[in-house]
Amino acid sequence: MADNKKILCSQCNNPAVFLDREKKTHLCKDHLIQSVEEEVMRYLNTISDLPETIGIAFSGGKDSTALLTVFSRIKADIPCRFIALTVDEGIEGYRQDTIRAAEDTCSKLGVKHHIISFSDIFGSSLDTLVSESDRNACTICGILRRRALEILAREQGIRVIATGHNQDDHAQTALMNAITGDVKKVFAGYGPSTWYARRIKPFARVSEREVTLYAMLTGFFRDLPECPYAITSLRGEVRTLLYRYEREHPGAMRNAALCEEELREKLGGTFRREPYQTCTGCGWPGSGKICQVCMVLRRPSLDNDPHQVREQTR
Ligand code: SF4
Repeated sequence: MADNKKILCSQCNNPAVFLDREKKTHLCKDHLIQSVEEEVMRYLNTISDLPETIGIAFSGGKDSTALLTVFSRIKADIPCRFIALTVDEGIEGYRQDTIRAAEDTCSKLGVKHHIISFSDIFGSSLDTLVSESDRNACTICGILRRRALEILAREQGIRVIATGHNQDDHAQTALMNAITGDVKKVFAGYGPSTWYARRIKPFARVSEREVTLYAMLTGFFRDLPECPYAITSLRGEVRTLLYRYEREHPGAMRNAALCEEELREKLGGTFRREPYQTCTGCGWPGSGKICQVCMVLRRPSLDNDPHQVREQTR
């Protein structure tokens, strides 16, 4: 007879480990794992032109670790191979641990793993660049990491990159875009691009709590240090705000994420992406004469094409 004091899974009689406060349902360990994997399968099934190999942007943190674990567990059911791609930004007291965790996870899961570092391609670590700039660390990091990942993907012949962004990340981005009034960012990356690798987000409809629990329940969660720059970011503030709303209004997080997704789907076709210009600094496409990467590096010289720097330093 079931113990009445125990909260049981809504799908079986096992003890529950997760409460979906919006749907008012509970899931046990097995059903939570199954529900996350089914959601990723559902997402992948919506993509008709999956390539032979997908790159998984793998920081070694819990979200990308959970994503790599899902792919490893469902690999027999998906029509593509996958490899892990890691960018080492060069953040003292944080990145060494996550890189070690990434290497260990890949070795346990038997996944091919490639690493690229800021120092290797840009000649400086993020720490050095931040100390020499008055720009926010996360802004510099985001701009350079995108380029670094793109370079690594190209080297491995990857045209589709899966990232571990979850539903909470999308809600935060939606609110940040609203707060900063940056309409262009709402549509950034929307639509086909012949230059940049396509980004896919299999956890787009999975909450951060589910992702964290999935990583814990499958045995791949690690208690790693948080990036020291995270506390200075607008994202950190927005995250705290949204958690409060979610507690008081279950579903708020999902609604914020879906709202922006719907806007993109309904208006994306009418939003005209400004044509790329060729950066006079590095020759990569960008939104102006000097791309964001060259602006961050303050290197408007063809000699400093990051790709060339990497070729030279090999
Ligand atoms: Fe980069 Fe900011 Fe994330 Fe740290 S918190 S890894 S600086 S984006």
